[in-house]
Amino acid sequence: MINFENYSRRCPMKILRLFVARIKSISANDVMFDMDKLRFSREEIARLEDFISRYESHEPVSKILNKREFWNSEFFVNADVLDPRPETEIIVERTLKLFGKDQHFDFLDIGTGSGCILLSIAKEFPKSCGVGIDLSEKAVIVARKNKSGLNVKNVEIQNVSWNDFRPQKKFDLIVSNPPYIKTADILNLDDNVKNFDPHLALDGGRDGLDAYKQLSGLMKNWIKPRGKILLEIGFDQHDSVKNIFESKGFFLENTYLDLQQICRVLEFAA
Ligand code: GLN
Repeated sequence: MINFENYSRRCPMKILRLFVARIKSISANDVMFDMDKLRFSREEIARLEDFISRYESHEPVSKILNKREFWNSEFFVNADVLDPRPETEIIVERTLKLFGKDQHFDFLDIGTGSGCILLSIAKEFPKSCGVGIDLSEKAVIVARKNKSGLNVKNVEIQNVSWNDFRPQKKFDLIVSNPPYIKTADILNLDDNVKNFDPHLALDGGRDGLDAYKQLSGLMKNWIKPRGKILLEIGFDQHDSVKNIFESKGFFLENTYLDLQQICRVLEFAA
């Protein structure tokens, strides 16, 4: 038996229970009732120590436990992918308004990372056909692991940069949560982001807009007439991204706020 009081000074009890649940392979609920009765081997205590010190160094719990809820599913996550954020769910939510449940449509997710957007949309629309691309080979491994873990059949995941991507077809919908943080601002992000999310998924170049400038041109060739685009953007990027896409002939049709009332997703029509 171990004395949890010492540990609970280093890490909130709620999180400690999650760690114990993982180590003992039991549910967090069972831990709640039985925590004081549990016995731990030396290895288990070492593992708990490791989890707690990682927590103390600001590693997100999702990355310590390799899982994160997004939309209706639990995704495997690790250091190779951006931790899925609740505000990104707006993209899935809006897709539900744009297409009927039984509709067949083709969609593309650019910079798919863990695959959270791609696979959530694919699960909501069994007759859709999704393509996810990512420059990072390691991210693609994670996305494919999630695809098979969630038993999603209607997507294909490619390890390719957006510049080299040559789609075989055009898309009714293109979605993306591209890197949009200004390079110089990355240093000021919280430790749990700066030290644990891949910078490739965050760094949007000098003005944070590199991805939108490149993608607006490329998407022209990839989108079907009257196709839709849903893009996540940074807190102050509404005007710039609107201008970039409108200069390429897209129309801004809607904007969506996140829970902090920040304009977070733009919807364009081709
Ligand atoms: N939303 C992330 C953050 O706040 C950034 C993700 C991105 O650049 N697409 O750190």
